Amino acid sequence: MNVKEVKVYSPATIANVTCGFDVLGMALNEPVEKMVLRKSHYPGVKICKIFGAELPLQYDKNVVGVVIDKILQHLPNNKLGIEVEIYKNIKPGSGLGSSGSSAAGAAVGTNFLLGTNFKPIEIIRFAQEGEKIACDSMHADNVAPAILGGISLVRSYCPLEVVSLPSPKKIWATIIHPHLEINTLEARKVLKPEIKRDIAIKQCGNVGALVSAFYREDNCLLSRSLVDYIAEPVRSPSIPEFDEMKRECKKVGALGGGISGSGPSVFMLSEAKDTAQKVANSMIKRYNKLKIDHNIYISTINNTGVKCMFK
Ligand code: ADP
Repeated sequence: MNVKEVKVYSPATIANVTCGFDVLGMALNEPVEKMVLRKSHYPGVKICKIFGAELPLQYDKNVVGVVIDKILQHLPNNKLGIEVEIYKNIKPGSGLGSSGSSAAGAAVGTNFLLGTNFKPIEIIRFAQEGEKIACDSMHADNVAPAILGGISLVRSYCPLEVVSLPSPKKIWATIIHPHLEINTLEARKVLKPEIKRDIAIKQCGNVGALVSAFYREDNCLLSRSLVDYIAEPVRSPSIPEFDEMKRECKKVGALGGGISGSGPSVFMLSEAKDTAQKVANSMIKRYNKLKIDHNIYISTINNTGVKCMFK
């Protein structure tokens, strides 16, 4: 099949899922961003247009360009060229995996366009190269679920091993994105380089229990496991009224939640759509009172990952 052009739809993701710092991630059905990849007569990668965000067109400064370039360099035919249009629906620095979504879409889309048949783990590795330029870290907890869909656990970084976990059927996510930009690179710097033993023990208990809750569809256990002792205590002070908001969301029925990725987006999980809506109302009311512009999303878990459609 000679594909000339492909439309790529790539999901937002909630990295960490509260307690799984750098190892857990969940793909969402909302928001989703779009990209068009086209074969070109000129070798290399060219980013033609970017809609919806101020991002560099220069290929080696944009995660999309970096990922496509890495794939092209890997191939024996050095005459291949790809042109890209990017439609950013996920705001950079939102904590919703904006760079991860672009990197995942670029890797899956290029593989599809060129018919290269890379394995999913190889596609994740290419996408990690994009994360490296976005925030100087090759974390895979956004790109893995964006590519594979559902919930991913990064068992090991070296060698890379990703485990797909079952998605609980009755889970709705509510996400509020206050319009305050938090740079992932800066947000990583506030983390302490060492973790005390008692913290490590508590965190391991929660990650293990959360994974078990996904398998057992045990929402009570899920609720108890959504506790983070590593990133949330140092990152949450930069999110206005984070603790109060979390408390109020739980009062209206949320199972629990936390900071999405490195923030400032905050997510809450609920077991029914109407509860997710009540959670959204409570979040909106708070940020309206504080006069903080925001976007709100209510989403189920995206179980398909990046989707490609060709003409
Ligand atoms: P998020 O917090 O939503 O995961 P990140 O902070 O990981 O977002 O990534 C945003 C950073 O990556 C910004 O510094 C942005 O300039 C850079 N970047 C480069 N290319 C892209 C792209 N195509 N999409 C999003 N961010 C990009």
